[in-house]
Order: sequence, then C-alpha cells, then structure tokens
Amino acid sequence: MNRYNKLSHYWKHVFGTRIQKIPLDAGFDCPNRDGGISGSGCIFCNTRGSGTGLGCSGMSLQDQYLYWKSRLEIRYKGCRFAAYLQSFSNTYGPLSKLEHALEQLMDLPELAALCVGTRPDCLDPHKAGKLAGFPVRETWLELGLQSSDEGTLCLINRGHTADDFARACRLASAHGLRVCAHVIAGLPGEDLNNFLRTIDFINRLPVHGIKFHNLYVCRHTTLAVWWSQGRYTPLSLREYSCWIAAAIGCLRPDITVHRLTGDPSGDELLAPLWARGKNTVISTIHEILETRDLRQGMNYQTTKSRENLSLAHQASSGI
Ligand code: SF4
Repeated sequence: MNRYNKLSHYWKHVFGTRIQKIPLDAGFDCPNRDGGISGSGCIFCNTRGSGTGLGCSGMSLQDQYLYWKSRLEIRYKGCRFAAYLQSFSNTYGPLSKLEHALEQLMDLPELAALCVGTRPDCLDPHKAGKLAGFPVRETWLELGLQSSDEGTLCLINRGHTADDFARACRLASAHGLRVCAHVIAGLPGEDLNNFLRTIDFINRLPVHGIKFHNLYVCRHTTLAVWWSQGRYTPLSLREYSCWIAAAIGCLRPDITVHRLTGDPSGDELLAPLWARGKNTVISTIHEILETRDLRQGMNYQTTKSRENLSLAHQASSGI
C-alpha cells in the first residue's frame, strides 16, 4: 500500500517513464554566505552548499549533465532526466546570470523537467517568469523554508522570514511553477510540535511537493562547533522516523513527497552516524507508517479543525 505520494510515482504518471534527477552546479553563490545578508551562512551549511562542486572544477552545465546521464542510463534503462540546479541559491544575482544558466540547459537530450534550488528572498517576478518560460513540461522551484518559526529561523541564521517563503511560494505558483518546500526535522530548540506547525504552515500555501531533511552535523559548520560543545544533540534514528511519520499523517493529501531524509556524503558527516544509512532511515519510516497505520493526510482534517477551533477561540475572546 502507498502510504504517501511518492515523487517517483507522480513522475511516472506524468511522463510515462522513470525520471532521474541530475544534480548540477551552475556556479551560483548565496547572499547568506557572500556577505549580501551575512558571511557565515546557515549554521548547518557546508562549503559545497549541498552541491556536487563540479561547477568549481570548470565543467560546463552541459558536460555535467552528460557526465551523469551516461552513468545513470546504464542503471535505469529508458529513463528520462530532470536537470537539477542544486548548489547554493540558483536565482541569486542578476537576471542575466539565470538566463545564461538556462540557455546552457536548452535542448539537452532526454531532458524532461527542470528543478531549481533557491532561497525565498532570491525570487522576483522577472526570474519567476524566466523559469516559467523554460521549455519543459514541469519546472519545480525547490524553496528552502526549514522552519516556520521565526525564532528558529533567526537562531539558525537563515536570513529570511517565514513570510518571505509564503510570498515566494505564491509568486512561483502564480507563474505556473511547482513549488517543493524543504523542511528540517530536529532543528535546535524545536520539538515535534514545532515541526508539525511547520507542516501546517506549508499545508496552507500553494506548495506541490515537500523534502524532509534530518539535521546532520557537517565539518566546518557552526553546528559542528555547537555539537562539539554539547550545545546541540541530533535526533536518534527512531525519533527522526517517528517525526516524519507523524508529519506525513498531517500533510495535505495532494502534496508529493520528494524525499524522506537527507543524504550527507561520508567525508563531511560528523553526526549522527545513522544519517549515512539512507535505506535504513527510509525503511524505519515505512515500518512506523505500517505499524501505526498512518497514511498521508489522515490527520490533515484534524489539523484543519484544530486551526478553526483556534481561530474561533481567538474571535470569541477578541484576540
Ligand atoms: S541558504 Fe543554502 S546555500 Fe545559503 S547559507 Fe543557507 S544552506 Fe547555505
């Protein structure tokens, strides 16, 4: 039984075949690292900005795409591809920079979709329009939120607000882009209730997909310092899996789940070591969904009722 909407199933339905993502590094930076907003970045950000680092090696976007394509099509015969501008914030900087990246992606063989990772404060109507005009059937904007709690966003030095996310989300959606929200479970100071409030926040926005990440500690980050000083303790595998299973139960039924866990590379990870075992994490989440008989959206109405009750309470008490 499918207990949640998997991206692989969704894409099979839309394109009639398997779609494989190809991670690309277009050489963008991030205003939260280059001094535009701050010079230190989010507390968990490593120097690769979640990317492959191939852009720094001088490889063009076409060559990066063809390099991965030739490897992936041996494993997944007959599949098509989604070009994923992953590293750092891919709508940061002048419009011409984004245009240049998109020009390089035009007419690549077997290209079916485009995914673009960015920050909510790096999108404007011109860039949203440019992305919407890219000639593929689907363009996804991968938008980092991480938490809807303003205190947490401040603590982790995101440099944007939850309102920034809501605005970018509405702008992207109004241009016909599909929005995938990135959230993190286990942020400093957050418990399961905080995490489920972030899911409620996303449920109320024009979001089409979600990526769940565990907060893991990478070398050379502020979080690594906190962890070494005992100021931050990661979730256990069991705790993380229970949180994600609960979030799936509360998630709006039409949202597609793109990811259940993050995927650190072995040399950068300090803790928790269970984050190395992606398959074990996924199977633990699946097991909890089964044993608790949880399905996506089954608690969504409860969430909505809770919100309505809270609104009614606020109205009756004049808040
Ligand atoms: S927004 Fe992304 S790239 Fe920028 S500092 Fe945060 S994690 Fe790093």
